[in-house]
Formats: sequence, C-alpha cells, structure tokens
Amino acid sequence: MSIMVPSTTPALITPGRQALDSALHQLDQAAAHLGLDDGLRTMLATPRRSLTVSVPVRREDGRLDVVQGYRVQHNVSRGPAKGGLRFHPGTDIHEVTALAMWMTWKCALVGIPYGGAKGGVAVDPAGLTTRELERLTRRYVSEIMPLIGPEKDIPAPDVGTDEQTMAWVMDTYSVSAGYSVPGVVTGKPMTLGGSLGRTGATSRGVQIAALAALGRSPEGVTVAVQGFGKVGALAAQYLSDAGCKVVAVSDVTGAVYRAAGLDVARLRAYAAETGGVRGFHQADALSHEDLFELDVDVLVPAALEGVITEANAPRIRARLVVEGANGPTTPGADEILAANGTLVVPDILANAGGVIVSYLEWVQNMQAYAWSSGEIELKLRDLMLNAFTEVKSLAAERGLTMRQAAHVIGVGRVAEAHQMRGLYP
Ligand code: NAD
Repeated sequence: MSIMVPSTTPALITPGRQALDSALHQLDQAAAHLGLDDGLRTMLATPRRSLTVSVPVRREDGRLDVVQGYRVQHNVSRGPAKGGLRFHPGTDIHEVTALAMWMTWKCALVGIPYGGAKGGVAVDPAGLTTRELERLTRRYVSEIMPLIGPEKDIPAPDVGTDEQTMAWVMDTYSVSAGYSVPGVVTGKPMTLGGSLGRTGATSRGVQIAALAALGRSPEGVTVAVQGFGKVGALAAQYLSDAGCKVVAVSDVTGAVYRAAGLDVARLRAYAAETGGVRGFHQADALSHEDLFELDVDVLVPAALEGVITEANAPRIRARLVVEGANGPTTPGADEILAANGTLVVPDILANAGGVIVSYLEWVQNMQAYAWSSGEIELKLRDLMLNAFTEVKSLAAERGLTMRQAAHVIGVGRVAEAHQMRGLYP
C-alpha cells in the first residue's frame, strides 16, 4: 500500500497557508472598518466545522493509494453552507479554509441565503483513469456524508472537477438516502437537474463585472487571461463575443499571444483536442510570467491563488484586473496595484456568477421546477450588477478599494446575522 499523504511539516508555508493569511488579512481590515469586537472577529476568522478524511482509492493495477480530503464549513449563519469541490495535488486544509471563508463573504455580498464551504482532495485528477476518479469521488463523498445535504451543505465544481464529478456526488448521496436528491449538489448535468446557464455562469459573471468596470465600449479593449479551464476559457470567449480583443491566454501547458487577437473559439477547440493551449498554430508562444506584464487593458487571472504578488505587481500594466480565480492577488500586491491606479474587481464579486446560478439551480431543484435560460440570465445579471453598484458606491463613499468595500459589505452582513441570531446557549 502506498500513501499519497501531502507533507504537513508545520514550518512549511504552503500556498494554502498563504491564501488563508490573505483571507484573514482581508477579514481583519473589514472587521476594523466595521468596528467589530474581538470575539466576533475571532468567530468569523474560524470555521464552524472542518473535516479531514483519508480516502483510500483502488488503482487499476490493484494497488491501494490513500489521499487526503477536506470539507470545511466556514459559516452557516445565513443559510446552508455552499462551496466548490477541488481536486488538486497542492490543496490542503488551509487553502480549503480560505476558499470557504471567501465563499461566506461572496454569498452575503451578492445576497443569496448561504454560508460558505469548500471541499478539496489532494490529488492530480489528470493522473487517474475515469474509473479511479469515480471511485475516489464516491469514497470521498461517503466520508463527508454527515456534513452534506440540500439543507446543510451543497458542493459544486471547482478546479479539477466538473459536471461528471457532480453527477457521481449526487448519485452517491442519493443511493445512501434511498431516493434521488438533486439538490445536494449544483453544477450537475442537465439530465440530472442541472440548470441552464450554470456551465458558463462564472465566466458570464466575469464578463458582466469586467464590462461594468470598464465603463466604456468593449470594442477593441485588449485582454489577457491566465487559466483556460472552465472559468478562463469561457470568460475569454464571452469577452471576445462582446468585442474585446483577447490577445493572450495561458494554461498549465503554456501561454500563447497574438497581437491582432486570438480566435478564442478555435483555441478552445484546439485545447479540448490537444489537452492545452501550448502549440496553437495561430499564435506565438509566451512565458507564463510575461502574460502578467503585457500592456493590455484587462487582466483576468482565472487559475489559482497567489499569482499576483509583490514581485510581479509593479510590472503589471493592465488598467483593470478582474479576478475570475479565488485569491489570485496577495495583500502586498493589492497595495501596489492600488498605488499604481490599477482597478481590481475582487474575486468575491467578479466570480460570484457561479454561485449565483448554483443558487438558482438549487432553488429549481427544491421546487422541482425549471426556468428558461432567459430567466436565469436576467437574474444573474441583476444580482451581479446590484452587487457591483453597491461595492463601487461604498468604495467611492469611504475611499476604499473595491476589495475592501466588498469585504465590508459581505463581512458586515454575516456579522449582523450572528448578532441577530444571538449565541447558543
Ligand atoms: P479548472 O480546473 O477548470 O481550470 C483551471 C485552469 O487553470 C486550467 O486551464 C489549468 O491549466 C490552469 N492553470 C493551472 N495552473 C496554472 C498556471 N500556473 N498558469 C496558467 N494556468 C494554470 O478550474 P476552474 O473551475 O476554471 O477554476 C479556476 C479558478 O476559478 C479557481 O480559482 C476557482 O476557485 C475559481 N472559481 C471557479 C468557479 C467555477 O464555477 N468553476 C466559480 C468561482 C470561482
């Protein structure tokens, strides 16, 4: 039996620990601005429930591997916990906690009745066969079963997971319940109760936020996108559809650049066929680092946390950064971007389209009813633009960055819910 347990050396500052430090820093700033007392701040800084599980996986050759899995419910004061499920070799309890915390503020900011959660399994899905992935997913779900449910905690796709993963989650939970429970998970295939518009929802939200922040015609606006997965590829597509010129994109295989604008639809087809953007013939190769430093109007980080740092922030020339990813900018980088006059539309606002349409999917599941794509699009746009306007106005009124304003609103709403409910016992 081989053990695939990630190192937990206490002295090691993992990217996950850095993400959690960023999330705590943002919370501290908002708590100070709101004048929250220490007790309440500490409550908001600590997750309500954290579960670490060991997930045994039978490999095709008969070996048994054991991987670490996590589910963290950061806060449930405003409703059931909600948050994605990530399969990535680098994930750890700190990263999952940070992502759960950001989910709490995000749901409160856009006004949907959820708390925040996140799940993760420290595994590289590309290294597993489909059957191994299915066994891993089902075993992980059975391990976290006591925490999840349509009234308790509802997972969704994140890095390394997709609709198929969500179908396995729904089936595993339903088999245990003895009947179909579509509302236990969102981002499902349509045939299992998925919602129209969910696949592209996060990217549509990124497009809505980017265009609102631009405040001018998107015609000819240049864009670079880091990450060409579920969020990045469709964000590039929707921005291109709106008239922007997407000049560069990257994924884990490499980065590509074309000054005249990439044909995003062709690039998506190429990446789907070859497994990545590297080698796309209608573009030049670019280094991962250079993508961040291009002279573009808009930069969309849509991969992982901590990619805009104090090291590269001084060289970022984009006028607008729209965070498709969660936690892409470190607090030090934030200060540099603000000082340089770069407008940052923060993750908890810019990528909220995913959880908004997840919420709509859950509402449809709970009512056994389906809305049209037009109805979904309208509700998504309304919630995104309402939140955008609130954040923009508060930032202007109080001299805050958009991230600070978004946190003041999100944290403030959760704090208010705590105070109204009171402490049990
Ligand atoms: P995904 O697994 O579908 O795609 C991730 C992409 O990032 C891949 O193209 C991968 O190749 C690329 N990538 C990884 N490391 C990279 C690197 N060093 N340089 C360049 N590219 C790199 O994941 P996703 O669902 O698109 O999620 C991306 C981000 O968006 C994450 O931060 C996630 O938490 C956030 N997010 C996702 C959703 C959603 O609905 N899926 C919603 C809100 C936020």
